Amino acid sequence: MLLSKPFAISYPSEAGTLFQMNTVRSLTETGTQVSIVNQIVQKVLHNPKLSQQFFSLYDGNFHRGEVDPQLEGDNLSLDAFRVSDICSMNSFSAGPSKIEEREEPSALYIMPSYMNHSCKGNCARYFIGDLMVIRALRNIPNGTELTMSYVPPNDNYADRTRKMAKHNFVCDCDLCVVDRSEPVLSVQTRALAMKKFENEIRDKLRTNSISDVQAIQEIQKIVALMEKTYKDANRSTYKIELFLPLSALAMKYMFTHQFLKAAETYEYMMSLYGFGTDAEIWSPVLVDTGLHVAQSYFEAGQVQKGKKWLQRIREAVKVTAGGDDKEFMKKHAQVLHSFDKYY
Ligand SMILES: [Zn+2]
Repeated sequence: MLLSKPFAISYPSEAGTLFQMNTVRSLTETGTQVSIVNQIVQKVLHNPKLSQQFFSLYDGNFHRGEVDPQLEGDNLSLDAFRVSDICSMNSFSAGPSKIEEREEPSALYIMPSYMNHSCKGNCARYFIGDLMVIRALRNIPNGTELTMSYVPPNDNYADRTRKMAKHNFVCDCDLCVVDRSEPVLSVQTRALAMKKFENEIRDKLRTNSISDVQAIQEIQKIVALMEKTYKDANRSTYKIELFLPLSALAMKYMFTHQFLKAAETYEYMMSLYGFGTDAEIWSPVLVDTGLHVAQSYFEAGQVQKGKKWLQRIREAVKVTAGGDDKEFMKKHAQVLHSFDKYY
């Protein structure tokens, strides 16, 4: 739908360890953020025509009443604080463009910056090098606002709110509405269960210090505890926080050859995001998870169900990322090779 090259981009290795305190906004700005501001100041000073594009972006309402920089003769005077505020409100952490170096650059894009946030966005972005590709996730009726998620929807409500605090708005998507309607006690109990999973059980899984049978029992207990918090809160949709423990559980089912249980668990994980329904919240994790549904159905001998899931995921990738069959096979080779004898 939209391809955009960065107005400015900075890689950690180029920006070095530079950082500065912005005492006006009480922010610490890292190397890449400082470097982007410097780049933009230079770019706009050398080519003042670009200033209109840049200064039309949201600046956090810190500069109400200020007029955009005007050319006086050959001179353009800039407010570097405003440049910095615009960057802070609009810069993206672009995907690693030098994949082998795992370098995550910061970048500022003009057109994509006009898109507002919704955890349940109707568009999604991905990167090819520093080129941002934005695709529509579904048919969008004429006149509908285009939105995309600034933060991963699998973050819990508190984390999403914290990450978006600087943007100064309250998200009213279906997920946030459901999250906000929950009693505090349910949220806290669930957070404690999640902490136990992350701090205790995951460690044991990582170090292989418990048997598969014990691991399955312990994860099942956590899942039951979390399910109860949703039930107590009368909540049946977007139980997304279950995703991580269920993912560990499904993996254990695979290891212990309980393929049908694995398939059902992976399938349940897909439903947490409303996959395939009008309520769907898109996340790239759905691709691998969906392929695992297919894989476990194949392993369980339910070939038709496996094929159906493979097809559903192929369709979802076509919509969200495009590309032909060859590219799909290449990109997901690791999972697909584990069951290529079935299709
Ligand atoms: Zn939201």
